[in-house]
Amino acid sequence: MIYRVISKSEFRKFLESLIESNVTIGPVQSDVDRNNDPIYKFQQVHSADEIELDYTISYTAVKNFFLPYREKLSEYTFTDDDWDQTIEYRVHPRVLVGLRPCDINALNILDRIFYKGTYPSPYYISRRKNTFIIGLDHEPLPDCFCSSMNHHTVTEGFDVFCSDIGDSYYLAINSSPAFDFLKKFQVTVPTDEDDKSYIERRKFIKKSFKTNVEIGSLPSFLDIEFDSPIWKKWGDKCLNCGTCAMVCPTCYCYQVEENIAVNLKKASKDMMLYSCTILDFAEVAGGHNFRPKKEDRLKYRYYHHYRGFEENAKEPICVGCNRCGRACLADINPKDVINDLRLDNEERS
Ligand code: SF4
Ligand code: SF4
Repeated sequence: MIYRVISKSEFRKFLESLIESNVTIGPVQSDVDRNNDPIYKFQQVHSADEIELDYTISYTAVKNFFLPYREKLSEYTFTDDDWDQTIEYRVHPRVLVGLRPCDINALNILDRIFYKGTYPSPYYISRRKNTFIIGLDHEPLPDCFCSSMNHHTVTEGFDVFCSDIGDSYYLAINSSPAFDFLKKFQVTVPTDEDDKSYIERRKFIKKSFKTNVEIGSLPSFLDIEFDSPIWKKWGDKCLNCGTCAMVCPTCYCYQVEENIAVNLKKASKDMMLYSCTILDFAEVAGGHNFRPKKEDRLKYRYYHHYRGFEENAKEPICVGCNRCGRACLADINPKDVINDLRLDNEERS
């Protein structure tokens, strides 16, 4: 990692230059909510002025620039005595600006599955390799708990990461394209004063977290609480809408659909993100549903995040952004569910 400092005005020039020659995606205000607070989302921008560098959080995760809700995996055409298959996964180089540390860590988690996993996805890899990522630190929202998950800082998975130190950004440069490109701009080697400001900024962010989720020994704790009545309590509230998985930066469960034209001349295979809380998620051919109860579907979502994935990858899959909690109309969120389980366990012991 190489560290440099860039003034905010020079950083804007850097962004303009990237936007001029690349498809660039950044946080923009798309609407206001019922409290008149801004709603932000990541979309293509055509000028640095459109990017809201001080945005709070995007409702949806940038996951969908790497794992679209729906994508065509392959298409087939059939003739009388032959058939042909078309597979496309080329992506034009693009720039993604303004990712928070937890969002980059979420991509690092997805990399474990779709990039470095047993069955790598060329579709995902082409997008990941062709995306130049600029991260940006921020003060946590009151309900963010990424420090509990140790995802409030990030050390890999980006090209440049910017920490706000007043009139300048303290840059962590993590790729040769980023280093080469930044040579065209006025960047300086950090002074002792810059280093001090950067360390102060890190301490300030760490201290600003208001929500803590106790994740110590969570996998074995969840094993013990497998039959807890708490699952029914929260499961009864769940609307089975699947929104939590759609907004989650790490939920990646999907289904594959095969469509065949009625004249049998064409076919396609499509991949669609899916949610384990939806009624038919565990339904198999013949109509048997392995998880007909909503409490079981909700429980298994938590088990995948905080137990199953941890057993294989030695870390939970949740980064603590609380997007699921904010989006849930039934007011279900990881902090309350996990705290409730712990409380119930204490009361029974
Ligand atoms: S937990 Fe909330 S967001 Fe998720 S499926 Fe249930 S009601 Fe929908
Ligand atoms: S807090 Fe919710 S949305 Fe965020 S990573 Fe964890 S499970 Fe996913």
